[in-house]
Amino acid sequence: NHHNHHQLTIFDKIINKEIPAQIVYEDDKCLAFKDVSPQAPVHILLIPKVKDGLTQLQKAEERHKDILGHLMLKVADIAHQNNLKEGYRVVINDGKLGCQSVYHLHLHILGGTQMGWPPG
Ligand code: 5GP
Repeated sequence: NHHNHHQLTIFDKIINKEIPAQIVYEDDKCLAFKDVSPQAPVHILLIPKVKDGLTQLQKAEERHKDILGHLMLKVADIAHQNNLKEGYRVVINDGKLGCQSVYHLHLHILGGTQMGWPPG
C-alpha cells in the first residue's frame, strides 16, 4: 500500500548494522547478505542501500535506472564469489501475489543445487 513508500523495513536495520546479518558484499550503493530463512543451499539477498521509493519493482521510475543497473551488474560477481559459477536463479517477488514480504526492493540470488522450473 502507499504507506509503505516511506516506511522503514527490517532491511534498513541491516543496512544500518542495527541487527546482524551475514554480509557477503557491500559497496556505497548496495548490500548483499544471506537470507535468514534460506530456500536453497545458497540464498543471498541484494538490496539498494537507499530505498528512494523503490519498495518493489513495479514502483521503479527513470531515476532508479542507475541503481537498478548497478544491482543487475553485481549479481554475477556475488554469485561467482559464492561458488555459483555453474548457474543460479535470480528472483524478484513483486507484491502480494508475488509473495513479497519486505517492501524494500531486493533480488534473491538462489543456487547451490539444480533449480526447478516452473517455480509453482
Ligand atoms: P520477499 O518474500 O519479500 O521476496 O523476501 C524477503 C526475504 O527476506 C525472505 O526470504 C526472508 O527470509 C528474508 N528476511 C526477512 N527478515 C530477514 C532478516 O531479518 N534477516 C535476513 N537476513 N533476511 C530476512
